[in-house]
Amino acid sequence: MEIIEDMIPTSNSNRPGTSLTPTHVTVHETANTAVGADAAMHADYVKGDDAQDRQVSWHYTVDDTVIIQHLPTNEVGWHAGSEGNEQSVGIELCVNQDGNFEQTRARAVSLIQFLMAELDISLENVVTHQSWTGQNCPANLLNDWSNFINEISDEDGEEPSPSGQQIRVITDTLWVYDEPDWDARYTTVQEGEIFTVEEELTVNGSLMYQLRSGLYITGNPEYVEMME
Ligand SMILES: [Zn+2]
Repeated sequence: MEIIEDMIPTSNSNRPGTSLTPTHVTVHETANTAVGADAAMHADYVKGDDAQDRQVSWHYTVDDTVIIQHLPTNEVGWHAGSEGNEQSVGIELCVNQDGNFEQTRARAVSLIQFLMAELDISLENVVTHQSWTGQNCPANLLNDWSNFINEISDEDGEEPSPSGQQIRVITDTLWVYDEPDWDARYTTVQEGEIFTVEEELTVNGSLMYQLRSGLYITGNPEYVEMME
């Protein structure tokens, strides 16, 4: 997992330099669905010249392709009210409409697993912005929070994506799904046919394996099995 460091200048007021010993990870969504509102745009937002008097900052922004770090994890950011700021590392997930939120979410799972290991933070201390201040954030994940937490715990600190792993089909008909509308269609495959998984994701609560860009099959173990 690669993390790009693009730190807020120490001269900015939104990088106060206050010492932080984080016991929690606070999860946010940017709530900015505009095209191009990705991690790089948010990095500019928190560190730019016009941000010198901005009263907001956080540690990491995640989109569907990168993770960018804006603050060291031993410095306080301003993202979750004073109580949350003093105890947590803040992560923003991008929700730009031209991004793939499932991939953003999978990347955030990896980052949280990394931070839990690195900073010795327990799973019950991975919390929402809402838990500190009552704000409706992270708006999408709040509807699916227990699954999100399960994804973090299931992987037990390992990479969440079985990228490059192979799966074997154990039926002769299979649903195939196409992005972006997730319409399902039957296709005929050979029992025993083998595919290479690009990415594993959860879509509407169901496990999916991405075979190539825009094409997915179910991860239901009745139909496919992971090869050793
Ligand atoms: Zn938030």
